[in-house]
Amino acid sequence: MDTQLESFDVCLVGAGPIGIELAVNLQAAGASYVHLEAKQLGHTISWFPRQARFFSSPERIAIAGVPLVTVDQAKASREEYLAYLQGVVQQFALPIRTYERVSEISKIRDPEGYQFHISTARGAGPRNYRVKKVILAIGDMHHARQLRHPGMDVVPGSDLPHVSHYFDEPLPYFGQELLVVGGKNSAIEAALRCYRAGAKVTLCHREPQISSSIKYWLKPEIDWLVENGAIQHFPAHVPVEIAPDRVRLAPVDSENVPDLTPERQREIAADFVLLLIGYVMDSQLFRSIGVELYGPGDTPRLDPATMQTNVPGFYVAGTASAGTQLSYRLFIENCHAHVVRILRHLTGKDPSHINPLAYARLHEHPIPEES
Ligand SMILES: Cc1cc2nc3c(=O)[nH]c(=O)nc-3n(C[C@H](O)[C@H](O)[C@H](O)COP(=O)(O)OP(=O)(O)OC[C@H]3O[C@@H](n4cnc5c(N)ncnc54)[C@H](O)[C@@H]3O)c2cc1C
Repeated sequence: MDTQLESFDVCLVGAGPIGIELAVNLQAAGASYVHLEAKQLGHTISWFPRQARFFSSPERIAIAGVPLVTVDQAKASREEYLAYLQGVVQQFALPIRTYERVSEISKIRDPEGYQFHISTARGAGPRNYRVKKVILAIGDMHHARQLRHPGMDVVPGSDLPHVSHYFDEPLPYFGQELLVVGGKNSAIEAALRCYRAGAKVTLCHREPQISSSIKYWLKPEIDWLVENGAIQHFPAHVPVEIAPDRVRLAPVDSENVPDLTPERQREIAADFVLLLIGYVMDSQLFRSIGVELYGPGDTPRLDPATMQTNVPGFYVAGTASAGTQLSYRLFIENCHAHVVRILRHLTGKDPSHINPLAYARLHEHPIPEES
C-alpha cells in the first residue's frame, strides 16, 4: 500500500474536456501539478448513449487548440469525441492518474506553504498529497436525479432492476413495452431511438408539452410520431408507482403535484422504465473545505474573473462551477474561458494551447449570482 505523502504546487481534479484543457496548459507552463481522475478520461461522456451526437458543433468543443475532425463533418458522436480526447492526452503525453478518486480535501498549515491535504481512493490503496492550490474540474453530473414529487418520497419501485436512469443503447428494448420518463433531449432521443429499434414506447413527463428548447431536429420527429399514435404520450403525467410489469401514472398540476385520486390515475404496461430526468452534482468536496454554496443547485461561490472560490487557493473550472444545472447555462464551449482565467491567476500568463472561443467569451459568466 502506497501511503507516502507526495507534494505538488497544484492538484487538478477531473479529466473531462475542461480538466484536460487545463492540464495541457499547466504542463506547458511548467507547473508542478498532479492530475487525478476518479474513472477514465472523459468519464461523463462515456455514459452518453452509444452513437449519441453532441448538440455543440465540433469547433466549439475542440480543446487545447487541437482540431476536432469528424468523419462526416457533422457534429461529433460520443465515440468520436472520446477518441479525440484520448488523442489529445497522447499528443501532449499528459500524466493523468486515472481510477484515483479524490475522497477528501482538508486545509493544512505548512511552513513550506502547502495549504491542502488530499486523500484519494483507488484499487491499489489510498494515496495522500499536500498541495498549494486545488482546481476542481469535476463536472456536474455525478448522481442520477431521483424520481420524487412535491410532498412525496422517492416513487416506489424506482429501484427495481428493470428501471434505469441511464440509456445506453436501444437494442435491449426490441419488442418490449418501454416507458420513457422525461421531456428534454435525453428522454426524447431515447424515445425516438427505441421506437425505431422496435420498442413499444410510451413517453410521459410533468410538463404540459415537450420543451421547445430540445435539439431542433428532434421536435418535429417526436411531434409527428405522437400525432400518428406511434408513440404514446402522456404530458403533465408522472409515475407514482412502478411495479415489475406496469406503472401507475397520475396527472400533475402546474406545481407538479400529482393528483392521487384513483379515478384520475391510469395504469400502463411497462417491461422497462427509463427515468431520464437529469443528474445532480455531488458537492461534498466543496462543502468539506468550506466553499460557500448558494441557490437550489448548490452553486459554488467564486470570483468569475479568476474562478477562485471564497476559499483562497481553491478554484473550480468547467461545468462544476454551475453546481447542479436546473436549466443548462454552462457547456463546454463557454468553459474554455475558465482555463484562461485560472492560468492567468496562477501563472500570470495566458494559456499556450486553447480553443479561441475562450477569448471571445472571456467576460461572460452565465451563472446568476443568486437564484
Ligand atoms: C447525452 C448528453 C449530451 C450532451 N451534449 C452536450 C453538448 O452537445 N455540448 C456540451 O457542451 N455539453 C454536452 N453535454 C454535457 C457535457 O457532458 C458537459 O458539458 C462536459 O462533460 C463538461 O465538461 P467538464 O470537463 O466540465 O466535466 P466532465 O466532463 O463532467 O468531467 C468531470 C470529470 O471529473 C471526474 N471526477 C468527478 N469527481 C471526481 C473526484 N472526486 N475525484 C476525481 N475525479 C472526479 C469525473 O469522473 C469526470 O471524468 C451533454 C451531456 C449528456 C449527458
